[in-house]
Amino acid sequence: MKEAAPPDSAEPAWHTLPPEELLARISAEPQGLSSVEAARRLSQFGPNELREASRLRPWAILVNQFKSFIVWLLIVAGGASGLLHDWVDAIAIFAIVALNAVIGFYQELSAEKSIAALKRMTAPRAKVRRDGAVDSVPAAEVVPGDIIELAPGDLVPADARLLAAASLQCVESALTGESESVLKRVTTLLTAGVPLGDRENMVFMGTNVAAGAGHAVVVTTAMATEFGRIARLIESTTDEGTPLQKKLQSFGKLLAWAALGMVGVLFALGLLRGTPAFELFMTSVSLAVAAVPEGLPAVVTVALAVGVSRMARRRALVRKLHSVETLGSTTVICSDKTGTLTRGEMTVRSLFLAGETYSVSGEGYAPTGEVTVAGRPPDARQTARLRELAWLLAGCNHAHLAPDGAEPAGQWRVIGTPTEGALLALAMKLGASREAVEEKFPKLHEFPFDSERKRRTIIRRAADGAARALVTGAPDLLLRRCAFFQAAGGIKRLTDAERERLLAENAAMAGRGLRVLGAAFRDLPALPAETVDVEKIESDLVFAALTGLQDPPRPEARPAVAECRRAGIRVVMITGDHPHTALAVARELGLAEDEQEVLAGTELDALMDENLRKRAATVAVYARVSAEHKLRIVRALKAGGAVVAMTGDGVNDAPAIKGADIGIAMGRAGTEVTKQASDMIITDDNFASIVAAVEEGRGIYDNIRKTLQYLLASNSGELLLIAVAVIAGWPMPLLPIHLLWINLVTDGLPALCLAVDPIDPGVMRRPPRRAHEKITDAGFLFSMLLTGVLTAGSALAAFLVALQTAPVEVARTHAFTALVFAQLFCSFSYRSESRPVWRMSLWSNLPLALVVGGSLGLQLWIQHNATLAVLLKTTLVSWGASFGLLALALGPLAVLEGVKCFRRRRGERTI
Ligand code: ADP
Ligand code: MG
Repeated sequence: MKEAAPPDSAEPAWHTLPPEELLARISAEPQGLSSVEAARRLSQFGPNELREASRLRPWAILVNQFKSFIVWLLIVAGGASGLLHDWVDAIAIFAIVALNAVIGFYQELSAEKSIAALKRMTAPRAKVRRDGAVDSVPAAEVVPGDIIELAPGDLVPADARLLAAASLQCVESALTGESESVLKRVTTLLTAGVPLGDRENMVFMGTNVAAGAGHAVVVTTAMATEFGRIARLIESTTDEGTPLQKKLQSFGKLLAWAALGMVGVLFALGLLRGTPAFELFMTSVSLAVAAVPEGLPAVVTVALAVGVSRMARRRALVRKLHSVETLGSTTVICSDKTGTLTRGEMTVRSLFLAGETYSVSGEGYAPTGEVTVAGRPPDARQTARLRELAWLLAGCNHAHLAPDGAEPAGQWRVIGTPTEGALLALAMKLGASREAVEEKFPKLHEFPFDSERKRRTIIRRAADGAARALVTGAPDLLLRRCAFFQAAGGIKRLTDAERERLLAENAAMAGRGLRVLGAAFRDLPALPAETVDVEKIESDLVFAALTGLQDPPRPEARPAVAECRRAGIRVVMITGDHPHTALAVARELGLAEDEQEVLAGTELDALMDENLRKRAATVAVYARVSAEHKLRIVRALKAGGAVVAMTGDGVNDAPAIKGADIGIAMGRAGTEVTKQASDMIITDDNFASIVAAVEEGRGIYDNIRKTLQYLLASNSGELLLIAVAVIAGWPMPLLPIHLLWINLVTDGLPALCLAVDPIDPGVMRRPPRRAHEKITDAGFLFSMLLTGVLTAGSALAAFLVALQTAPVEVARTHAFTALVFAQLFCSFSYRSESRPVWRMSLWSNLPLALVVGGSLGLQLWIQHNATLAVLLKTTLVSWGASFGLLALALGPLAVLEGVKCFRRRRGERTI
């Protein structure tokens, strides 16, 4: 291998070098690099990423653990205890600080790891030539000298010089601000100083391909690209967290100040009452530690991270963390039909040719099967006509079919689009093939299919210097361009009556749920010129046949649609297909019933925005729409107050995906541009996975809410207990070390377990959360305060009862134990706001059961072990008293459950 020259640091004018010289300079060859050389260059030049791309920073995470005010307060308190030779307290405090840091560090690191893994999964990819074949690799692995292939919807992974280009158009707005796409071509520019926008022989990182095709050799990667240069100028953007994280952060700050304020007041009160200053200081510090919910942001991060990895297992890759929160409030899901609601595995079942209907047998894409007419094999004349059609279908096609080795024998797989695969399979059943067509009738020109045109034309050379245009496309639209038709007796002029007949036939096929494609052709007397007029070629066509493709609904789609209905989510089908086909499929899925619910693209065009907004509230199927319509649909739905999730795959879908509240890209059928515009990628293109993601989104939100509620309820209980004692002038019911212990054991660990609770099975049986609803609504605050009052109440009861007959140390032990027990029991209640605890299996959240069980055991042990009692400054307790305290601590749980049942009966909206 030749040595790769490092990119010239002195602004190399790549666009002015002749291609051969350029290739030589970076030691590249048109057939691409070997994978060995690519790996070598990757280590030489580094990954093709902008430097700001965040990496895992364990050190930063560790340092973060010591950034909170509370931690420093604790360290001061520990130091002060040490100075006063209170070794037990000092050691306990420092142990708690260390333990807190370790747990926090571990949580955050694993959360960041899973989010980083997700980022890798959804990172852009590029098509490069490696070892002589085109391969899809992560864009980060592209190196100088790579040959990249470009197709519509691709992101340009690095700066590259074009080697070939066919009508290649790029959108370079990220670089030049120009939103119109620019035409690229292979040429050598003479002046070095032309502005970026005019370097027409170069493609740049951060831009994307809008149309055409080509390949190019990579000259610079990463920060050396033009895009990297800009990125260097802009300060790297830091991760700011999701809206909920931000809201909770400010809410947490507010609570912290409130708590500190209260602690300050209690401190002053204590001083007035003549409590010794140091004791008061230690209590205040502990109380501050207990009251300030410093674990809050971390717990949210953990809940989000665990949630998104759970979603990844259910085939939904989250690209933007904030979409997880929006998912839970989704009210409308707009889904593509083909491939998402249906299987996207197509087979031609029916054929209408020269006035006769043929049936086609066969499985999947296998090119074997019978074509019969009225139950009999076709006669000689019919066979000849079918053969003619076979050439047309194979000639106007991009797909390839191959036997699938992995599947049972007889299974074939399509390389290309399913629609064309199905047409090709039919052509092969009728005796034509792609290879034979390419050989006999070489391709001259092509007008590609897109969702706007809904047809494809390929012009091929015919015998004697003539040519033939072959067209396939949506029959209703195609017929408008036809002037003749294939009749039983030969080609005839297309009368209005005949057109009606064909349209009726088309509608009938579509009404059976078949996707109907028409085939037409036109003979050109001479070879077409260099530039051909599409409009002219695609007019006065001869209509040849109607083909009906079966694309059965996905078996899991119908239950998923029903689930959405129960969950108060409307499902809307969006398709380029015929309204009849769409309605037939929608009926099978239970998504729509009558024609009133169908809106066609042409009707949509005729509606003003205001009227569309009204119609959008009831339309369940949009048919014969193009990508541009999607954005209008999203806007209309959003204007009606909906939270919209929208799927897409093509380049043109990107604006609608960006415009939706949740833009969903298809992992298989989707282009890179769509994926990068999306909030979430569905890896199996399956509608059911979208619904699963919504369910997970709701579950994650619930878990955050539960955790928050539990943390705050515990904190308010502790604060309340101390406050009442200080105000009433009673002795302290808890010592500082007790508060610290509670904060670590009874608050922290169960809260973490609640954050990863499995999804409540009822989560899809309630309406979506309103988009602007606060997480801390009235119900939330009510149960939080109620729990605080109940747990503090039971601890206080234990304290006061014991104080009647025993010294304060014993009473304190009772109060401490009662509070711990009560809080631990309450954690079970927090798992659901509607289901009673006895209906939730302990097994479904084993970590919580173990944490609670372990903590209870530990607490009992402390009461019966002299050493532990010394460490925690408690007294030994009789077993009778232990059980009494356990029974007492069940009280708050019982009340919470009672309230739950009462609210449930009243039908209040609960989790
Ligand atoms: P969908 O929303 O079902 O994916 P498309 O936009 O892919 O719809 O297709 C819209 C219509 O365009 C189809 O009903 C069909 O008639 C026609 N069509 C689809 N694919 C092709 C193709 N590859 N070549 C020609 N026509 C096509
Ligand atoms: Mg499609």
